[in-house]
Amino acid sequence: MRQSYRTRRIALPPRYREFRPRGVPARNMNPVSLSVDEYEAVRLADYAKLEHQEAAECMHISRSTFTRLVEKARGRIATAIIEGRSLIVRGGNVEFERTIRRCRHCGEEEAVPILHRTEHCRGCGSDDLEDLAETAGTETARD
Ligand SMILES: [Zn+2]
Repeated sequence: MRQSYRTRRIALPPRYREFRPRGVPARNMNPVSLSVDEYEAVRLADYAKLEHQEAAECMHISRSTFTRLVEKARGRIATAIIEGRSLIVRGGNVEFERTIRRCRHCGEEEAVPILHRTEHCRGCGSDDLEDLAETAGTETARD
C-alpha cells in the first residue's frame, strides 16, 4: 500500500467521474479536473456535513489543509457549472480504504476491502468487473 506524508485517505472511490453540460459540443467543453482528494473533501464537508476538523481526521490531513482543499474543490465545481464545462474526477495522491467493484455487464456494485478478491458479480455472475479504486488511481492527469 502506498504511504507518504502527502497521501490523503479516501473512504471509497468516486462512483461517477465524468459530468457533462447538456447541449454543449464536446470540443467546447474544456474539462475541469477535480482530483479525488478534492472530491472527497466536498463529499465530507458538503454532502456528509462533517465539521472541517472531523473531515480532516478522516482524510489524515490537517484542518487547514482540509479547508484549502475543500475551497479549491468548490471553486472548480463552480467553474464547471457556471462556464458550462465538463467536470472530470481524477488523480491526486490518494489511498482508498475500500473499493467498489462494478459489473460491466449488469452494473451491480459491491463495496469491498481493497485486497478482497471478487471473482464474479453477485447479480449476474459475470467476471467482467471494474475495480473503481484501480481505475480512479490510473487516471492521474491534473490540469
Ligand atoms: Zn453483473
